[in-house]
Amino acid sequence: MSGEHDWNKTSIRNLITKEWNTKCADCGAPDPGWASFPLGVFICVDCSGIHRNLSEISKVRSLTMDHWEETQIQFLENHGNDVAKKIYEANVPVYYYKPTHKDCHVLREQWIRSKYERKEFVGKGISNISYGVKKGNLFKKGRDNGQYLSRLFILSEMDGTLKYFTRPDAKEPKAVIKVDSINASFQPEKMKQFNGLQITYIKDNRTRNIFLYHSDGQEIVSWFNAIRSAQYRYMQVAFPTASDNEIVRRLTRNFIKEGYMEKTGPKLNDGFKKRWFTLDNRRLMYFKDPLDAFAKGEVFLGSSENGYHVMAETISSSHGNPMWNYGISFSTPERTYLFSCETESEQESWIHAFKSVISQPMTLREYTIEAQFKRRP
Ligand SMILES: [Zn+2]
Repeated sequence: MSGEHDWNKTSIRNLITKEWNTKCADCGAPDPGWASFPLGVFICVDCSGIHRNLSEISKVRSLTMDHWEETQIQFLENHGNDVAKKIYEANVPVYYYKPTHKDCHVLREQWIRSKYERKEFVGKGISNISYGVKKGNLFKKGRDNGQYLSRLFILSEMDGTLKYFTRPDAKEPKAVIKVDSINASFQPEKMKQFNGLQITYIKDNRTRNIFLYHSDGQEIVSWFNAIRSAQYRYMQVAFPTASDNEIVRRLTRNFIKEGYMEKTGPKLNDGFKKRWFTLDNRRLMYFKDPLDAFAKGEVFLGSSENGYHVMAETISSSHGNPMWNYGISFSTPERTYLFSCETESEQESWIHAFKSVISQPMTLREYTIEAQFKRRP
């Protein structure tokens, strides 16, 4: 009995060392510790938790803790992640967002449901379906009182716009947002909303945030992918020579880093103020509150080749009165900013984030954005 058991353990180990099985079939996390039947995939512990809620279509077993029959191992040998991918991801639209293990729960759960439960990408899939116009109500955080109110949103692929209306019978939209200026990112923690989605767009060269959610996870993820689809179609027309890969890279993105730091004003004795910082590509924005509609200020991060530098800084009493001691100085060609972080690891993490941006040479488009920043009052 124990001989058979050992043999089975070895067989499983051989299976999961096959290249296509070394990463979770659903999120790409390394070293999956679970398998799902009858899907025949190896998945990570987080995704196995999601599969457990789909008991009609997936039964999960631990590779190490469960007892394995030879027939089950045989089954996995004939299936595995590469076979499943060919079936369940046969037709994922190019704009469609495939989450990684770093993404939030709602994105990962809906990806798994759309693959195996709704079979959206099996066979012909939904890849040829254009959203055209997507219309529906979403809860939007009010700018001043912070309450979430139901608002009608209309996304039009043809116009390349997202509009919202404060009243269902309103003739004019409250805002018309061009899809190519939008970034959408899920923010469940910051918004304290399981299905919270932040839409950021540029208006008059300033960043504007709106915070949305829908109680149904499928619906909010559908909005997210509809925005990506509209952006994709828009850019296909705007940049006819660009490849799919180049376009997809310019759809929605996660922020590089967010969190609190203190900053001083431009004058030496301005004192430190605690602010919420968001680093979005080359834009460093700071807010009084993480859910503010407008940034108090924005700093452009160029490249180290043209005068942008970052380094750790010892904060002394001559710098005013900071609560926190782990300093960072960030220099642009025009001025030096002084920030302070609560912990050493936050300081390191911010410096790392800044360096990851300024070590990249700037594109032509980014030179234009830099010039717009310089023209600001
Ligand atoms: Zn996973």
